[in-house]
Amino acid sequence: MIFYPDAYFKNAKQITTEFLNKNNIKALILDLDNTLIDYDRNMPEGIIEWANELKKNGIKLYIVTNTNKKKKAESVSKKLDIQYNYFATKPLKFGLLKAQKKLKEKPENIAVVGDQLFTDVLGANRCKMFSILVDPIAERDILITKVKRPIENFLKKKYFEKLNKGGVMDKK
Ligand SMILES: [Mg+2]
Repeated sequence: MIFYPDAYFKNAKQITTEFLNKNNIKALILDLDNTLIDYDRNMPEGIIEWANELKKNGIKLYIVTNTNKKKKAESVSKKLDIQYNYFATKPLKFGLLKAQKKLKEKPENIAVVGDQLFTDVLGANRCKMFSILVDPIAERDILITKVKRPIENFLKKKYFEKLNKGGVMDKK
């Protein structure tokens, strides 16, 4: 299933270097809204430390966001000292491939981390990158996302049922 992620974590901070090494991931492409910051642009405690820890362990980080708000993307990028692409139109491949070029890694060595199946996970899967789904930080969403959430939640439920049955993340 092209909407299913390769892995799921409650939030980005739970993604460890150990997990990434085990899956041959050398770089993370991070979503911005509801993955690194909430609707009100607040960053959860510990995100900076988490990002620094990964970088220290040799994991490259990059932000790819669909937002058209350059200032918002720039401020998080500065805080975390990570490069970014904004207005990326995920699930289209363009923004993710641009980041891949800068990261200088093969798609299979890159994981895309995000809270939406229809943008982050689908985009990653289309680019043959590893896809990691996280729960959205906040319940509040922009309008277009609000429309997509019920369908997304239905698919997530199906995905979790699959996980609970077999324990293996088989996307087919
Ligand atoms: Mg998001």
